[in-house]
Amino acid sequence: MTGDDMLVWWALLGGLLLGYLIARRGSERAKGLQVDKLRRNYFRGLNFLLNEQPDKAIEVFLQIAEVDNHTVETHLALGSLFRRRGEADRAIRLHQNLIARPNLTADQKSVALLELGEDYMRAGLLDRAEVLFTDLLTMDAYAAPALRQLISICQQERDWHRAIEHARRLEKISGEPQGRLIAHFLSELASAACQKNDPGSAEHLIQEAIQHDRKAVRPRLLQGQLAMQREDWRTAAAAFETALDNDVDFVPNALPQIIACLEKLHEPARIRSYLETLSERYPGVSPMLALAKRIEDEDGVPAAAQFLSRRLQQRPSVRGLAALVELQILVSNGESRDQLLILRELFRQLIEDQAVYRCNHCGFGARSHFWQCPGCKNWGSVKPVHGVAGD
Ligand SMILES: [Zn+2]
Repeated sequence: MTGDDMLVWWALLGGLLLGYLIARRGSERAKGLQVDKLRRNYFRGLNFLLNEQPDKAIEVFLQIAEVDNHTVETHLALGSLFRRRGEADRAIRLHQNLIARPNLTADQKSVALLELGEDYMRAGLLDRAEVLFTDLLTMDAYAAPALRQLISICQQERDWHRAIEHARRLEKISGEPQGRLIAHFLSELASAACQKNDPGSAEHLIQEAIQHDRKAVRPRLLQGQLAMQREDWRTAAAAFETALDNDVDFVPNALPQIIACLEKLHEPARIRSYLETLSERYPGVSPMLALAKRIEDEDGVPAAAQFLSRRLQQRPSVRGLAALVELQILVSNGESRDQLLILRELFRQLIEDQAVYRCNHCGFGARSHFWQCPGCKNWGSVKPVHGVAGD
């Protein structure tokens, strides 16, 4: 029996208990009839469960637990269970049926409306969900959860302007800071402006994003890209370096650009010292590999190979070993070179199969970087994978 089926069990047994308590409050004659009916249905439901037919057991349960104020909670629990099991249509029917009842309190109706909105979202009916949540905004007690859902809908529709509006309102009524999220939405708009070749608007949006979240990484990266486009290498390098000061985990998104800018500024010594400092701060191998490349270009292959093998003893890494093999291929010949070529191919396949990024919130793995995790929809939680097989 799965975890969901166990929940159905408990929902059913809880519903039966409620039904029993309600029946006990009735008149003696009505009580006798109701308890009889309950007992019959109880055994029918139990039979379905024992035969692993939880769906039929639920139907029996729904017949037992007629909707009145005492069983609303159980209906809500069942509805959210259907939705979690991926049966959005069934959850929608249950919640619509609940909302149509005239005896619900205003509070119960609002909760059922929130649930129905979530069913619509699960079923992909975003327009209907949006109408429902917008109606709920008029009820103070339910405005915050409704706004959270509206923000989620706007993100799916990539309507960043309205997402920002809702986030600002949520911050105002709930007191929960939304600056980090708003900075991500503004960065989406800034990134779109960059793509449309509108650097003026992009700069404005970037500044606004930084005001909302001083530690934000993405606006700094965008700032660096814009500065590179206008060949302002010093501003660009400073922006990328600030991005890494804010969060060193974004090395793969900024390091190649920092090196390119410092090369344009003809500051090779600064590149080396920056990479040295960075490899102490960053747990991955990217700065070390970039440093090995500098040493190879400036001091030759043997010096680079010596540097790499020394560092790899301290920080074992598949990518580091692959780079060492590449260097050895350059200075070997004959049979040993052929063997190194086979080794290179093996490393290539090993690296190719690895997820380069992983969400530290839900574990979603990816070959490329996402600002919003495609799995859990969290912002800024997809980071490079470290360790022997990672960066
Ligand atoms: Zn995630």
